[in-house]
Amino acid sequence: VEEARQKYDQPIEVIEGPMMNGMDVVGDLFGAGKMFLPQVVKSARVMKKGVAHLIPYIEEEKEKNQNSEPKAKVLLATVKGDVHDIGKNIVAVVLRCNNFDVIDLGVMVPAEKILEEARKNNVDIIGLSGLITPSLDEMVHVAKELKREDFKQPLMIGGATTSRMHTAVKIEQQYDQPVVHVLDASRSVSVTGNLVSKTLRDEFVRKKRQEYLKLRDQHESRSRRKNYLSLEDARANKTQIDWESADVKKPNNLGTQVFNDYPLEEIRNYIDWGPFFIAWQMKGKFPDVLEDEKYGEEARKLYDDANELLDRIIKQKLVKANAIIGIYPANSVGDDIEVYADENRDEVLTTFHALRQQSEKRRGQPNKALSDFVAPKETGLADHVGGFAVTAGIGVPELVKQFEDDHDDYNAILTKSLADRLAEALAELMHEKIRKQYWGYAPDEGFTNNDLIREKYTGIRPAPGYPAQPDHTEKPILFDLLNVPELTGIELTENLAMTPAASVSGLYFAHPESSYFNVGNISKDQVEDYARRKGMTVEEVERWLGSNLAYEK
Ligand code: SAH
Repeated sequence: VEEARQKYDQPIEVIEGPMMNGMDVVGDLFGAGKMFLPQVVKSARVMKKGVAHLIPYIEEEKEKNQNSEPKAKVLLATVKGDVHDIGKNIVAVVLRCNNFDVIDLGVMVPAEKILEEARKNNVDIIGLSGLITPSLDEMVHVAKELKREDFKQPLMIGGATTSRMHTAVKIEQQYDQPVVHVLDASRSVSVTGNLVSKTLRDEFVRKKRQEYLKLRDQHESRSRRKNYLSLEDARANKTQIDWESADVKKPNNLGTQVFNDYPLEEIRNYIDWGPFFIAWQMKGKFPDVLEDEKYGEEARKLYDDANELLDRIIKQKLVKANAIIGIYPANSVGDDIEVYADENRDEVLTTFHALRQQSEKRRGQPNKALSDFVAPKETGLADHVGGFAVTAGIGVPELVKQFEDDHDDYNAILTKSLADRLAEALAELMHEKIRKQYWGYAPDEGFTNNDLIREKYTGIRPAPGYPAQPDHTEKPILFDLLNVPELTGIELTENLAMTPAASVSGLYFAHPESSYFNVGNISKDQVEDYARRKGMTVEEVERWLGSNLAYEK
């Protein structure tokens, strides 16, 4: 860059000439599937560092003459109550590489702030991102606000729980301007390109509108076709378990155990690398992906970089991992799980609430709820339930900031994706301790990491906000019971995302019949019943379970 600067008249020409040309090549190759995400992010790093070198010279020149080409401006934000931003950051990097001016507002951004910044910066496109289900509702809210304030910018929607269907059914109709779902970072360039193009925009928008209209039709006919049982009938078809004391092991340790500052070198052995490569948009099973004909070489480099960074994180203690587990006397009472203070079982400490599948099942298939896996009170069996919360995110924001200050998005994103892996690995490790030692119902278990990833073990650790219990409001109950914030430093945002972002929490069930499942959509009768059990209003429950309603609100 320095060599080029001396050759060119103006420093800005170095960016607009050779550097942009270089990035164009990267963008084209990425678009053509000949380059992969890690290469793009690393190229962007070169670009960013180059630009950083030129900035002082450009500033100097700017004072002399003021005319730089205006670029299309894209505003990106992770919505209020949500803290996940790996995907959004990747989109930002990819867009910047493609010559867009990106204003990234970060995470937990309230609607007012998004509107205010969009107006102030006169952006061309607004992009919303989110991971947890309450964010879907938050996006609907932002869309409504944009309409109410008469904004004209198109809206892009992205993030793990978002979908074309949700965008079509819930968001598009709330806003008069184009609303487009962006599947992943590799699509973001073509979508933004189309939306700002004078020649392509109209046709692109017309096609999208048509596509979404069709999706809405499909959605309607599909939900009309599906049959739902009444809650009463669904309960009559609960998981059939022959309750015998043999399957109800008395735990070795009751109450909570805290594992703060847990050795990262031990956690590392439990990492499931599969999702890591998916986060980097290199699909394929691990370790096969390392030998993949297409991705192999880049996957190996990424894997080496990740392990090198992990070595450094461990050696210099740059990240701290904390965990808490707890096991309590418990019985199911209807679809609730009562947690007792002690084995006398007369003082209820707290209650977890399960949701039951209501869609009609094939013969012999039960309508499951998590409460089915805990011995009903009337059996008189002394059953138990466990809970956990783990994080590998302490210190991560500081490390990420260091990398960002050094114009190194590659290592910033690498750090976050590694922290997520460590958190899941710590959840896996703690679950093993539960089975072998603290609950101790499988003391002789001897599984390889691969066996663990394939969930060969007995028992489950369902997480609130996931398919078997889509309701995030069960998280505060768990956090209160275990005193999670005080003992581990993990907190909940207003929409019940965990901070640090690299955190996992859930319940433990030990019964051999317990399994993961998807609650799916539920009917009004269950929403009303659930609201009563939780002491919430029907409207509140409908808001939190907006993605799981078998009816229109
Ligand atoms: N080995 C993977 C695990 C992914 S699933 C990884 O490292 O990413 C992550 C967690 O989601 C599981 O540990 C479990 O707590 C939860 N989970 C998975 N399926 C679920 C379901 N159907 N219902 C509730 N929780 C689920």
